[in-house]
Amino acid sequence: MGIELDIRPIKDWLPQLNNPLLISGPCSLETEEQTLETAKQLAKDPRVFIYRGGVWKPRTRPGSFEGVGSVGLKWLQTVKKETGLPVGTEVANAQHTEEALKAGLDVLWIGARSTASPFVVQEIADVVKGTDAVVMVKNPVNPDVQLWMGALERLNQAGIKNLVGIHRGFTPFRETKYRNYPNWKTFIELRRLMPNLPVICDPSHIAGKREYLYEVSQKAFDMGMEGLMLESHRDPSCALSDKDQQVTPAELFAILDKLVIRYSSSPNKQFENQLELLRSRIDALDAELMEVLASRVEIVKQIGQYKKENNVTALQINRWTELMNKRIDTGEKMNLNKTFVQILFQLIHEDSVRMQTEIMDQE
Ligand code: PEP
Ligand code: MN
Repeated sequence: MGIELDIRPIKDWLPQLNNPLLISGPCSLETEEQTLETAKQLAKDPRVFIYRGGVWKPRTRPGSFEGVGSVGLKWLQTVKKETGLPVGTEVANAQHTEEALKAGLDVLWIGARSTASPFVVQEIADVVKGTDAVVMVKNPVNPDVQLWMGALERLNQAGIKNLVGIHRGFTPFRETKYRNYPNWKTFIELRRLMPNLPVICDPSHIAGKREYLYEVSQKAFDMGMEGLMLESHRDPSCALSDKDQQVTPAELFAILDKLVIRYSSSPNKQFENQLELLRSRIDALDAELMEVLASRVEIVKQIGQYKKENNVTALQINRWTELMNKRIDTGEKMNLNKTFVQILFQLIHEDSVRMQTEIMDQE
C-alpha cells in the first residue's frame, strides 16, 4: 500500500526552481579556496540550484580523507554569501545536524550508510524536529525500499515536510560496470509506494567514473526523476575523495547541454492522442494475453488430473528443459529478449507445477 507523505513540493522551498533540481559541488570540501572557486564557477550557470560539499566524510575504510569537519560549514556560509547559492552538506549524527542547522545550511542530506541505520536516522530526526529544515535521504547501501521509506517516515513524523529522496545506487556483490548498482526497480517501487515524494538521482555515486555520468543522468530523466546531484571539483585530478567520478564545472555544463529533460506529460495534443491510441492497443493485447494464460491454466489442470490418475509426478524435468529451450529458440526468432523469455516461462512453469501438486494433494 502506498503512503501519502505530508510534504511540500520542491518549488515551495526553492521558488527559483524553473528546471530539474540540480545540486552540484565537490565530494569533499578540501580548502576554502577550492570550495569558493568551484562554487563561483558553478554559480555562473543558472541550471545549478544548490551547492553541495561534504564536510564530514563517511569513508568505508579508515585512513582515507575524512573531511575538514566543522570549519567547512564556515566556508559554505561564505559560498552562500558570495554566490547566492543555497548550500548543503551530509549529516551523519546529532552533533553534525545541530552544527549544520546552527550554521544556517539550507539543505542537509543523510548518506547511504546512515540511512541503513534506523538509530542514526532517528537521532537526526530528533534534532531537526520542529524546524523547517530541508532534508534529503539517500537510499541505504542495500536495495531495501522499506529501510529507505522508514527513514523518510521518521523525518516526516518529526514534522519535516521539505523532503527529497536521492537514488545513489546499491553496493554490488560482484564486479560491475558501475561503482554502485542502480537497480532502478527500487526507485520505481519507492515512487509507487510514496508517489508524492520528489526523488533525484546521484549519478556520481552510481557511475563511479566520469565517463558514465551522462548515460546515468539521462536514464534518471527517462525514468521521470525530478533532478540530479552531480559532484564537481575545480580540479578533479587532485580531489581528496571520489576523484574518478568528479568533473570540472565546465564539463558538468557540457553534460547538461546534452541531456534531454523529460516530463510526465506533454502539452502537445497530438502526442497525447497518439499515446492514448497506442495504450488502448496495449490494453487490448494484454487482455488477449490474459485469455491465453487462462486457457493454458485449464490445460495444465487437465494434465495434472491425468498425472494424478496415473501416479506420475507433477515435475517432469526433461519436458521442462525441452520446453524452455524451444521457447527461447522461438523467442529469439521473434526478437524477444532471451532473459525475458527465460524468466517469463520460469514463472509460468513454476505456477503450473504449483497447480498440479495442489491437484495431486487433494483428497
Ligand atoms: C557523498 O555524497 O559524497 C556520499 C558520501 O554519498 P553516499 O552517502 O551516497 O555514499
Ligand atoms: Mn562522493
